Amino acid sequence: MTNEYQLRVLPQVAADAEKLRKYIAEEQGLAMGALKAVRILKRSIDARQRTIFVNLKVRAYVNELPTEDEFEQVDYQDVSSRPQVIVVGAGPGGLFAALRLIELGFRPIVLERGKDVHERKKDLANISRTQQVDGESNYCFGEGGAGAYSDGKLYTRSKKRGNTEKILRVFCQHGASTNILADAHPHIGTDRLPQVIEAMRNTIIRCGGEVHFQTKMTQLLLEGQKVIGCVAGEKEYLGPVILATGHSARDVYRYLNGARIHLEAKGIAVGVRLEHPSQLIDQIQYHRKEGRGQWLPAAEYAFVTQADGRGVYSFCMCPGGFVIPAATGPEQIVVNGMSPASRGTQWSNSGMVVEVRPEDLGHVKMIKCNNEKTENDPLAMMYFQEELEKACWQQGNMKQTAPAQRMADFVNGKLSYDLPRSSYAPGLVSSPLHFWLPKPISSRLQQGFKTFGKQAHGFLTNEAVMIAMETRTSSPVRIVRDNETLMHVQVEGLFPCGEGAGYAGGIVSAGVDGERCAEMCALYIEKNG
Ligand SMILES: Cc1cc2nc3c(=O)[nH]c(=O)nc-3n(C[C@H](O)[C@H](O)[C@H](O)COP(=O)(O)OP(=O)(O)OC[C@H]3O[C@@H](n4cnc5c(N)ncnc54)[C@H](O)[C@@H]3O)c2cc1C
Repeated sequence: MTNEYQLRVLPQVAADAEKLRKYIAEEQGLAMGALKAVRILKRSIDARQRTIFVNLKVRAYVNELPTEDEFEQVDYQDVSSRPQVIVVGAGPGGLFAALRLIELGFRPIVLERGKDVHERKKDLANISRTQQVDGESNYCFGEGGAGAYSDGKLYTRSKKRGNTEKILRVFCQHGASTNILADAHPHIGTDRLPQVIEAMRNTIIRCGGEVHFQTKMTQLLLEGQKVIGCVAGEKEYLGPVILATGHSARDVYRYLNGARIHLEAKGIAVGVRLEHPSQLIDQIQYHRKEGRGQWLPAAEYAFVTQADGRGVYSFCMCPGGFVIPAATGPEQIVVNGMSPASRGTQWSNSGMVVEVRPEDLGHVKMIKCNNEKTENDPLAMMYFQEELEKACWQQGNMKQTAPAQRMADFVNGKLSYDLPRSSYAPGLVSSPLHFWLPKPISSRLQQGFKTFGKQAHGFLTNEAVMIAMETRTSSPVRIVRDNETLMHVQVEGLFPCGEGAGYAGGIVSAGVDGERCAEMCALYIEKNG
């Protein structure tokens, strides 16, 4: 017999399988010997009160052992002799598109400009060592895309857009911990993601698909208004194209714009990474001096407010993580955050960003924006990002050392005479961000920080450091597609996909979008032969 229960238990009970079994047996009046197993189905932390509880939904197995699989597995078939589809980009969008194509009986040919997920790691280490960024192999480019050495948080607000649970199950099938199926805020961790991504690649190859690294798409092959393939290196690859190149492939946007493929400028959010000692965040969020203690994970936070008509919010919070250099080319500083599965570092960081809309560029001179470029140009927001990143690089001594300022100093308009220890490996330089950041951004961040400081006592502090700049929060361009067919509005056979197309933000939503593009591409082939 199985029974399902909703429980509210102390963290030490939730963390220990034997204690939990004992608790359930006592609560439900069962003999310990009869309660054979307990499976956690849902888990969330309730830290609103001084006593912290863990809410659990569990399935108890009474006088029987679990026989059903922990999750439903996908059956991947041999597609070696099936029609092929070109998938450009091996980020979450491209990888999930490729796997879904296999499920549907099509052969994915994946083209990825960067290196495989393990080779790529050396180039990431080199950024701090040499202060140079490899334009083809970095935190955004390479197998796994921006998702590979990311934080691996797997929650998304866009439940409507598709089957987010399926994405989590596919991750588990490729080696991720099944905890992600239960946790309210699932997280894989940057140290575990590469193995999962490699396993996904192996499934593609085992089923007869292909994955080509260091193979950059440079051109689409067009027959009139129809895409029949693409060019990468010296070779032509034939088939409909799922274009999942991410938000940092600026050469792809430039190429599409030059080829008169319809694009639109899209709003983004820009700001800084804010890094606190993780112990301080734990103390604030768990309302207790001892912080997280033995049984709780590093604490998370999420803040949002409005300042002068624009959103100011925390983004991609990484408890117990690192701030990392996420630039994709020379003369840029871009920062982002990630955390290992243990979330055990001394720091907790998040993006603190201000919403910027395309219409803001015309009205507000953010930085020395070239107005010629901004007027009605679909790439206007991308140029704006580029200018911010370059300004930041100049302020950072033209290396990957990032300009930084203590948080309270920033709010009070004071230069920081020294900086706290930080997880950002290339190093920090003290810089008056309040002075050189575009006013509409700095002044909204200042207002936002004051609000957040009131909401969470101790959050606005000089123990926290702001590291500039966070500019790659989403795509600055939309590659406009039809809502029904997901095909480009003007060119058939082209499926703009994932974050770079402007239709996803984050690993799970890019994965969901990849699956949907694969489904629509399959329908397109069936209809058109
Ligand atoms: C450090 C960091 C931490 C993050 N943390 C999280 C997190 O915790 N949770 C979360 O949900 N999201 C996180 N994100 C965001 C997330 O990684 C992205 O939203 C997601 O990866 C987008 O998926 P995508 O497939 O659309 O694009 P991408 O992941 O950007 O993949 C695009 C791929 O296309 C390749 N490519 C580009 N141009 C070409 C070309 N011309 N030819 C061939 N290949 C090309 C690129 O090399 C890349 O591999 C993080 C991002 C970063 C950088």
